[in-house]
Amino acid sequence: MRYQKPKGTADILPGESEKWQYVENVAKDVFNRYRFSEIRTPIFESYEVFQRSSGDTSDIVSKEMYDFKDKGDRHIALRPEGTAGVVRAYIENKLYGPEYQRPYKVWYKGPMFRYERPQSGRQRQFHQIGLEAFGSDSPELDAEVISVGLNFLNELGIDNLKVAINTLGDPQSRTDYHKALVDYFTPFKDQLSEDSKTRLEKNPLRILDSKDDSDKKLVENAPSILDYLNDASKARFEYLKSLLGDLGINYVVDPTMVRGLDYYNHTIFEFMVTDPAFNDKEITVLAGGRYNGLVEELGGKPEPGIGFGLGMERLMMLLKDDDIKVEDDLDVYLVTIGEKAERASVKILSNIRRAGLSADKDYLQRKIKAQFKTANHLNARYTVTIGDTELENDTANVKNMSTGEQVSVSLTNLPEELKKIEG
Ligand code: ATP
Ligand code: MG
Repeated sequence: MRYQKPKGTADILPGESEKWQYVENVAKDVFNRYRFSEIRTPIFESYEVFQRSSGDTSDIVSKEMYDFKDKGDRHIALRPEGTAGVVRAYIENKLYGPEYQRPYKVWYKGPMFRYERPQSGRQRQFHQIGLEAFGSDSPELDAEVISVGLNFLNELGIDNLKVAINTLGDPQSRTDYHKALVDYFTPFKDQLSEDSKTRLEKNPLRILDSKDDSDKKLVENAPSILDYLNDASKARFEYLKSLLGDLGINYVVDPTMVRGLDYYNHTIFEFMVTDPAFNDKEITVLAGGRYNGLVEELGGKPEPGIGFGLGMERLMMLLKDDDIKVEDDLDVYLVTIGEKAERASVKILSNIRRAGLSADKDYLQRKIKAQFKTANHLNARYTVTIGDTELENDTANVKNMSTGEQVSVSLTNLPEELKKIEG
């Protein structure tokens, strides 16, 4: 084999791509119902957009970025996630302006890039679907964003989800908690991983997210954010929980769940599944939260925002074939007998397709029997047979492949006749 795809990438082939389209269509339907519109931003941005958005101490920026200098010596990065680019576009296009609806709600889908060790459900080019809502700090919007994600997955037949929520409180609660974490971890500094020693200086919240075993042990007894919430933040969280209750959403509060950056606050959430597709290990499919400081961080005026991103590859692994409704039925298979019919078939096919029906034929000069076999194989609803006689008489033989019924119709009006038969 001469060339292989780059490590950590995948070809999505026909047979599979229909499933992706199905999922993307459901996303579009559900998100539209919630009045989110699609936004498409570049797959690369200035490095700094992600650096500022994800933060220097994040795995994304410190280890996983696909970045390079372009020919004009600009520092560019392939996007590792969707939010930063959307926020950049929100500011650059002044989408906070009075002519726009608030909250300003958008969704996106597309490839993301992270230099990671490839494994099941973890690629270097992977795909996310996500959404963002700007310009409202309302807890009702938090509940809506959680529920749109859940409804999307439910509509795909995925309902064994664990919805984990947490709050990071307002900036004051965060500052208090930050200090409590520093006080707690500092005496154990020597036992922390190298990464977490740095985090302790720069961003202690991230220690809670560490995958290192010795860090994890220390994290078990770390103070909980819930004990550092001020009254307003506590009341807000209680209200959100009651809204989720109204929506009939079963959730668990996970006080160790964090987003390490200062501009995250209040609500954060993750949807998890334990599924045979992942050896019954719990994995996160969707993750999101409120990021009221991010727009300002990227150079805009302060504007609240909230959103989530979900991994398509992990989602596809969870989908059972029964959950996916793929329509690839063929309306018409054209069977030709002889050279004249073969030539005429080019125009006939074109007419059928222009009339809105799907149609195909044999391009390998095979015998009639083989052509019918292909028609069966392709699940054609009808075959249309033409030979010299049909061409002379301006007729065509139409056969209903499920009933075996045959009728002779006008060849000139074939598309109309077919549509009549179809009803
Ligand atoms: P993890 O802890 O699994 O690395 P993460 O915190 O890096 O996840 P997010 O940045 O929150 O993930 O991205 C949201 C979702 O995108 C994840 O829940 C997952 O479904 C998906 N995802 C993230 N990285 C990858 C990857 N390398 N390959 C495939 N899907 C991914
Ligand atoms: Mg990761």
